[in-house]
Amino acid sequence: MAVGDLALSSPMGPPACEKDAKALRFIEEMTRNADVVQETVLAEILSRNAETEYLRRFKLNGGTDRAAFKSKIPMIKYEDLQPEIQRIANGDRSPIFSGTSAGERKLMPTIKEELNRRQLLYSLLMPVMNLYVPGLDKGKGLYFLFIKSESKTPGGLLARPVLTSYYKSDHFKTRPYDPYNVYTSPNEAILCPDSFQSMYSQMLCGLLERKHVLRVGAVFASGLLRAIRFLQLNWAQLAHDIRTGTLNPKDNWEGIIPRIWPNTKYLDVIVTGAMAQYIPTLDYYSGGLPQACTMYASSECYFGLNLNPMCKPAEVSYTIMPNMAYFEFLPHEPNSTGLTQNSPPELVDLADVEVGKEYELVITTYAGLYRYRVGDVLRVTGFHNSAPQFHFVRRKNVLLSIDSDKTDEAELQNAVCNASRVLSEFGTSVAEYTSYADTTTIPGHYVIYFELLMKDSAELPCESVLSRCCLAMEESLNSVYRQGRVSDNSIGPLEIRVVKNGTFEELMDYAISRGASINQYKVPRCVSFTPIMELLDSRVVSSHFSPSLPHWTPERRR
Ligand code: AMP
Repeated sequence: MAVGDLALSSPMGPPACEKDAKALRFIEEMTRNADVVQETVLAEILSRNAETEYLRRFKLNGGTDRAAFKSKIPMIKYEDLQPEIQRIANGDRSPIFSGTSAGERKLMPTIKEELNRRQLLYSLLMPVMNLYVPGLDKGKGLYFLFIKSESKTPGGLLARPVLTSYYKSDHFKTRPYDPYNVYTSPNEAILCPDSFQSMYSQMLCGLLERKHVLRVGAVFASGLLRAIRFLQLNWAQLAHDIRTGTLNPKDNWEGIIPRIWPNTKYLDVIVTGAMAQYIPTLDYYSGGLPQACTMYASSECYFGLNLNPMCKPAEVSYTIMPNMAYFEFLPHEPNSTGLTQNSPPELVDLADVEVGKEYELVITTYAGLYRYRVGDVLRVTGFHNSAPQFHFVRRKNVLLSIDSDKTDEAELQNAVCNASRVLSEFGTSVAEYTSYADTTTIPGHYVIYFELLMKDSAELPCESVLSRCCLAMEESLNSVYRQGRVSDNSIGPLEIRVVKNGTFEELMDYAISRGASINQYKVPRCVSFTPIMELLDSRVVSSHFSPSLPHWTPERRR
């Protein structure tokens, strides 16, 4: 295909090299034939896995067409699969079906070839970026990449986060030299299991090679900010290590990224979804460098990429690559009451979604998830050829998130109950509460606003009681949260802010003045709207932090 055929428009002109041209042709081919590719992917998944227990259970009888699939296979959530996944973990080697997504880290079945599929998606990112940012082969990328602890399931299978398995794979470790993908971090630094030493050595290498660095990144925005905070705390030692010791003490950290790495062209971090809360802080440290969100992926499956990676964060749309899995879309009714449960909604195919509408993503993967609800709500913004492009709207049922932790309403409620139990010894209970993910501190931390109800004779519980409440809440939160606190240092101590009596009533008055119905008013369990934050903060009578770390061990819960 001639370069002129490339529908991927760019201000910079043609692909940088033949390898890029090939990758771009692949994107064009896949997106032009989105529906056909999807049909083939589904048939491939179903025929390969025809003899699995799961597909046999639904009497697919070897059928590989869409109609049979849609009429026989139910839509499911992680919880529905848990018994089967546990059997695999326990050592059952019979063919059953062939990360995290909320709360507890989930065990997700995978297969070896999934690594090829992930690597394929990675291989498309730089060819697209090269269309927009020239000269990236003239320097290096400073990426803060980490592995996490892994464990064995009772049946002896390795259980570990998807990126850990990717970084530990030969696909990553023995990747061929590519001038567009040279990192300052040696593999050994990335693969170091001690998160402090890993960060230290990656930072040291990044500083040593600072003039060569053309892009700075991490997977998520929170990871990059953790690295900047690390530099703030450890620059003296790092500078000492570099012998010349010329890093001046700096009180002013504004624009620190381009000051240290003066050739940085952009930040490579995901700032969509929950990570959007970090954009102002990234702007501050980077002096407004562009923030490129290149891809959209999960433990279950890698989904797609952003074909216009230098656009503003608010305008990011991801193009789902039709070859990654079979994708379906559950029309999302923002105000749905759940009354339609008796008539299951029709799932829409990738090529048939409509611009402007919101959908929940449902996937069928090579690794053996069938019609599985990922939990992400996406809005269609347009099409690239016949492949739709999606704005990430939000994750369902996630109230608070700082890093990879995701805390839902039920978990928060349970944590508040446990704090309330501590208070009950002092004749006090929690009358109302709400929460806020405070990202002005690095690492960010959960803030819980409490309005307390005290028995007549009771006095406001003392500092030590309220800090015990903070710890009691942390102990009740899921293991991903506690790992972030203990092992990764990616989440700061939980804070309780006690507000004056009557504050939540004021909150309701405010909502009603803005049009909320009195009958249907519910206390928001998480807030982020500035006027509401200001109201709450102006009524704070005392604030308290968790005095120590909650319990966490690398072993998986049984
Ligand atoms: P995990 O399986 O724990 O890696 O989490 C995957 C989830 O992270 C996805 O289902 C999304 O909710 C979120 N996520 C991943 N990539 C992005 C992105 N580019 N923008 C917004 N959210 C994302």
